[in-house]
Amino acid sequence: MNTEQWIQEAEQVLMHTYARFQIVLESGDGVYLYDVEGKKYLDFAAGIAVFALGYNNKEYNDALKAQIDKLLHTSNLYYNTPAVEACKKIVKATGLDRVFLTNSGTEAIEGAIKLARKVYFNKHGKADSQIIAMNHSFHGRSMGALSVTGTPKYREAFGSIDGVVFADYNNYEDIASKVNEKTCAIIMETVQGEGGLYPANKEFLQKIRALCDEKGILLILDEIQCGMGRTGTMMAYEQYGVKPDIVTMAKALGCGVPVGAFIAKEDVAAAMVPGDHGTTYGGNPFAAAAVSKVFDLFASEKVLENVNEVSAYLEEKLDALAAKYDCIKERRGLGLMQGLEFTMPVRDISVKALEKGLIIISAGANIIRFVPPLVIKKEHVDEMIAILEECIA
Ligand SMILES: *Cc1c(COP(=O)(O)O)cnc(C)c1O
Repeated sequence: MNTEQWIQEAEQVLMHTYARFQIVLESGDGVYLYDVEGKKYLDFAAGIAVFALGYNNKEYNDALKAQIDKLLHTSNLYYNTPAVEACKKIVKATGLDRVFLTNSGTEAIEGAIKLARKVYFNKHGKADSQIIAMNHSFHGRSMGALSVTGTPKYREAFGSIDGVVFADYNNYEDIASKVNEKTCAIIMETVQGEGGLYPANKEFLQKIRALCDEKGILLILDEIQCGMGRTGTMMAYEQYGVKPDIVTMAKALGCGVPVGAFIAKEDVAAAMVPGDHGTTYGGNPFAAAAVSKVFDLFASEKVLENVNEVSAYLEEKLDALAAKYDCIKERRGLGLMQGLEFTMPVRDISVKALEKGLIIISAGANIIRFVPPLVIKKEHVDEMIAILEECIA
């Protein structure tokens, strides 16, 4: 079947929750994807910041296949060895103490919210806590995660859980003014992704950390998108000299295998006791083996070094584009998580880029988001810039 036939069949069975691009992807290799007609695309989206190691990494695939032949699933009623190994590596990477593995980023956020609420409940004996979340944040689409997502139009039709207060990101005064005796946590992305590629200011985040310490409030950092090396350090917060009480991870954590995690400091994690939280699939041997191998490959393939080298080059090239074209307002971002804000909607540019064999995505209407595999090289940046410039011009 060709592209058109596949799309026609898809549209009969898929729920209409996405305005999909009109291509049907079939395989991938390195930083390139191929559609059902054999057309090749340079990928600067990585399945939305997921495929850090690039497609079809042999060592990774072999590890997955080996685990498939051993044991796929056990449930969390028993221990399994891949989960122990994965969680040890997550603890080391985050500098926190205890891990709960989930199937997605959204579920990691749900867990983080429940954990923060439980800590408050243990202290006050009541479940009337509040969480301060950021305007323009994105934390996921389930009811809890959606309730702390700062885009009113996503929430409008669905309502919210109780006890969420919104404040402006990078605005210490606004957040501090919303703290009260019911505040159990402040949740934010270290670098806002969907909301427009805004990194937290260093001084801001340090002051928020100090505020949380002073008031006994938990700091939840969502590093689902910006964690796992994307900004040049394993966790983005390393660059800020702060540590959260709870961090959420997903996306590149499994590099294509659906897995997430929320991780907490010892005294915070202690609030959860058997019966408080659970998942059937979360942290199953297959997903855990994936996570474990991802960490190994980050080390052996020197992924962080590559991110630092290539992201400096990408910034330079994007800055040059921004200087050259009036329709580009600014570049911003951190590491290989970059955005170009235009003065007009960018959907047409993304569609044109696809025709020319480049996959790019947006973040909001006017911003092109660059979240490529973390193994891209400078030559791929050149290739991307050349196509992008044709589309802009
Ligand atoms: C993608 C994303 C989520 C949601 O993760 P899913 O795996 O799609 O459930 C939450 N927070 C941030 C910052 C994200 O980028």
